[in-house]
Amino acid sequence: MTKFSELNLNPKVLKAIEEAGYETPTPIQAGAIPPALEGRDVLGIAQTGTGKTASFTLPMITLLARGRARARMPRSLVLCPTRELAAQVAENFDTYTKHLKLTKALLIGGVSFKEQEALIDRGVDVLIATPGRLLDHFERGKLLLTGVQIMVVDEADRMLDMGFIPDIERIFSLTPFTRQTLFFSATMASEIERITDTFLSAPARIEVARQATASETIEQGVVMFKGGRRDREASNKRKVLRALIDAEGDKCTNAIIFCNRKTDVDICAKSLKKHGYNAAAIHGDLDQSQRMKTLDGFRDGSLRLLVASDVAARGLDIPSVSHVFNFDVPGHPEDYVHRIGRTGRAGREGKAITICSGRDEKALVAIEKLIQKDIPRLDNPVQEDPRPEQPKPEKKTKAAESPKEGKKVREPKGRSRGRKEDTGPAVVGMGDHLPSFIALSFDERRAS
Ligand code: AMP
Repeated sequence: MTKFSELNLNPKVLKAIEEAGYETPTPIQAGAIPPALEGRDVLGIAQTGTGKTASFTLPMITLLARGRARARMPRSLVLCPTRELAAQVAENFDTYTKHLKLTKALLIGGVSFKEQEALIDRGVDVLIATPGRLLDHFERGKLLLTGVQIMVVDEADRMLDMGFIPDIERIFSLTPFTRQTLFFSATMASEIERITDTFLSAPARIEVARQATASETIEQGVVMFKGGRRDREASNKRKVLRALIDAEGDKCTNAIIFCNRKTDVDICAKSLKKHGYNAAAIHGDLDQSQRMKTLDGFRDGSLRLLVASDVAARGLDIPSVSHVFNFDVPGHPEDYVHRIGRTGRAGREGKAITICSGRDEKALVAIEKLIQKDIPRLDNPVQEDPRPEQPKPEKKTKAAESPKEGKKVREPKGRSRGRKEDTGPAVVGMGDHLPSFIALSFDERRAS
């Protein structure tokens, strides 16, 4: 097994790694660090949780340890698809450079241009950015990319999903032809292959095993959910979720609950809170400070349940999540792999439970095909009533119902670039207190 000390990293970097408590390099690190230190381009096919951030950061800072930054001309560039991922890379960077004198700037949306410009003006060794914000700075004439010696593209497949590929191509064309490129993607779609063929030069290709097949520590299960009465389906599904959480008891120290749509993320978080659970939502339309606050709470343990969309959760490094609940079966099978990879990390035990409605069964089949195993069926902890309920006389007035949950939850306006998670219809959320008169058919209503 390779040791960190055999990898030719800067001694000050080795010291920081030791202090971080890492003993041996992960396979992506053992594979990517040597060619990266030789100055070669690297194509890493690896997912979050494999240690890929260190696999590009460690050689990068070793190479940058010599030399100095010039004003407005960063020496290296790390592109990330989301603000959270960029912030996380910046944190990793701080950990590994603590004994070096390297400077960094983080260029992400939701933070003032002025502060970021001041940093760039002083000169930075490493610029960590989302593509849109980086190009905004470039357009303002405050940034030159002609000094970039090393460029990293992280989570390229997610960039593709989010419509960032044209931005990435443009950024490539603004950096010198002679730069070194370290390129990471969890999967190699044909569009990604085209980009790597165009912009990488004879890269060292390192592929690490898919997480779902690699991580045997994740216990998986799926509850087949019939839904019952149509008008009650959504609230019944939330009831199933609560019962599943309750059934795990103290074993569920913290969990991420994934929904396919932002609207459901909001509804689900509100409903859990209303039922006394310690829960909060995170998705792309919440403002940056709110997202950071929620994430910090989840990291420090003051928040137990994080309800999230795929984009918001992508790349988040939360070390010890005991459970993942899929409120919906993800439409893309790879997203299932990403989601459940949030638990069972670094050899810890984890559990991932999915709720599958009738309409999601096809997506479940696709997932089982991808991970090449059947996900065990679990009993539905909630008794489902297949018969249409007899309408009960309406006692409560509408105003007495939970007013907040009764409101229509609108699809928030956002600057998402064609991201697929937002395509669902706006959902009318009645919480778990649907006034029963609404559930009656027109004829029944006339009759009652
Ligand atoms: P990443 O795939 O970069 O998101 O990293 C996943 C997690 O693994 C992070 O919490 C890292 O701090 C941790 N990590 C990275 N490299 C190692 C290593 N060699 N040994 C132990 N933990 C590591």
